[in-house]
Amino acid sequence: MITGNTKLLGVIGHPVEHSLSPLMHNAALAKLNLDYVYLPLPIEPQNLAKALDGFAAIGVVGFNATIPHKQAIIPLLSKIEPIARAVGAVNTVIRQDDKWIGTNTDVEGFISPLQSLDRDWRQTNAVVLGNGGAARAVVAGCIQLGCASVRVVGRNLQKLEEFRHSWQNSPLSPLKANVQIHQWESIPEIIKETNLLINTTPIGMYPKIENSPINADLFLCLPKDAIVYDLIYNPSPTKFLQYARQADKAAIDGLEMLVQQGAAALKMWLQRETVPVDVMRQTLQQQLYERD
Ligand code: NAP
Repeated sequence: MITGNTKLLGVIGHPVEHSLSPLMHNAALAKLNLDYVYLPLPIEPQNLAKALDGFAAIGVVGFNATIPHKQAIIPLLSKIEPIARAVGAVNTVIRQDDKWIGTNTDVEGFISPLQSLDRDWRQTNAVVLGNGGAARAVVAGCIQLGCASVRVVGRNLQKLEEFRHSWQNSPLSPLKANVQIHQWESIPEIIKETNLLINTTPIGMYPKIENSPINADLFLCLPKDAIVYDLIYNPSPTKFLQYARQADKAAIDGLEMLVQQGAAALKMWLQRETVPVDVMRQTLQQQLYERD
């Protein structure tokens, strides 16, 4: 119920109507019985600075940023947390002492389902398929986990070079030397020593659910204990994860990343140690997988 005291949260994007964040966050806020609302906020790129001023004027507590604002917002904020600097993108903004603080919770979201596994990450060679926005959070996550190496596979050499270069002065620098780049053709060679294989491309995403970034036979070349992780959450499992399971590999889909990046943001806005993660997860599962 909206009251005279309702506090405002939201997500800025353009477009933003596809976002599942309002559903997930409002379910959590209802469970907590808090007088907050989380709104979709469609902001055109040229209106971003004006929107921030407006948010400050009406007392917005915090918000998420999605495409096309994740990089563009950086110069408009008072402070950027080191993790967001390393990723080069802000997905969460908090109002603190009349200032906007930008951070990135995608990294925490990505590593959350991995941290619950009993692994020695220092023995883990990670291979990241794709070198777009999500790949940046994934590389930062692999560095945070302490992976022995991080190999990024892409189809465009120039973009790959730029990607590698961008990590050279990273705040996560101790492992910067271990971010390597490879072209798609090298996959059969590097897959044999890949303990963590992550798809960050949109290949296999609804509605093109029959596609996979790599063929079924390559999964048989992975080491026995390899983990296969797809950032896609619709469908679940993707063809990529179906192939992984057929080859007897552990498979993780993108839903938990979505839930945990949201939970991390909500904790910051509400200044709470815990938020109802189960409610957030169930709400998304119902929306995505149980609609018929
Ligand atoms: P993006 O910035 O557009 O990056 C996509 C990457 O995939 C680019 O490197 C692109 O290569 C590559 N790619 C696209 N089509 C390809 C193809 N046919 N063959 C080879 N490479 C291809 O997108 P993004 O924001 O990183 O998102 C990527 C995926 O992650 C989406 O499916 C998104 O839904 C998912 N995601 C999930 C979460 C979550 O919480 N679970 C969070 C973020 C993103 P080029 O650079 O050469 O074009």
